[in-house]
Amino acid sequence: MKKQMKSIITVGVAALSAFIPTISSADNNNEHNLLGYSVAWKQTAAEYRALYYQGFNLAKMHLDKALMEYKKGDKPLAIVTDLDDTLVLPLEYWGKLIQNNKDFFEDPLWDEWIPTNGMIPSPGSKDFLEYAKRNNIDIFYVTSRNQGEPTWDLAKQNILAMGFPLKDDSHLTVLTDTSNKETRQNEILKDYNVVVFLGDNLNDFRRKYYIKGDVDGRIAKMEEDKDLFGSKYILFPNPTDGHWLAAIFGESEPEASQKNREVLLKAATKTAWQDK
Ligand SMILES: [Mg+2]
Repeated sequence: MKKQMKSIITVGVAALSAFIPTISSADNNNEHNLLGYSVAWKQTAAEYRALYYQGFNLAKMHLDKALMEYKKGDKPLAIVTDLDDTLVLPLEYWGKLIQNNKDFFEDPLWDEWIPTNGMIPSPGSKDFLEYAKRNNIDIFYVTSRNQGEPTWDLAKQNILAMGFPLKDDSHLTVLTDTSNKETRQNEILKDYNVVVFLGDNLNDFRRKYYIKGDVDGRIAKMEEDKDLFGSKYILFPNPTDGHWLAAIFGESEPEASQKNREVLLKAATKTAWQDK
């Protein structure tokens, strides 16, 4: 399981427009795969990679400022970071999904793929982490994953395979039965001055953004904190998965069904020009 607990779909699908085409992942030529654009963007767009450099450059500026302002007796400095789609990119996994003619996230394939260490460091991540380490800034990895009993060991193995620094085991937290990172974040905040949080999901920053089945409500929560993005919160792009899907579907890993394909297209036409 990638992270989020399974839950019952709560989004109503009633009143779907008749113009929504019938689309199935079983299309022989895969040409209507709903994941196509998102995955192609992740695989190829220079803009996608540049956004990582942008995020880490920003984060480094905040580290430099915190280092300059640091006084003896202050709490030690730290960063708290997510793993998947923040420090590492699971591009192979998404490519395999498309190759397999799948258009929704697949837990079994994900769980099979994680032990291969096939992810790559996101652009700029390694330099940023090494810079933090060189300046004695503690790096706390907080991730939500569930591959059963070896979950924590697999996450550690991924971190080491990428060449990322890991100070000790207490600096890696893997949440297997919840995606709520706030308990661990609060523990860290007690003892450290967390300069920046890094993530691809608003849930990587605070739990308040975890809102199911309410797209506008989730956007409104984000708007409350607009000044924190780019300052305390460094956000990376992820158009394929995350809690933004829970706002649409009521759960983060919706099943591959015709009904959910229609829900996605309904979301994509949230606004549309009505030209008579
Ligand atoms: Mg992530």
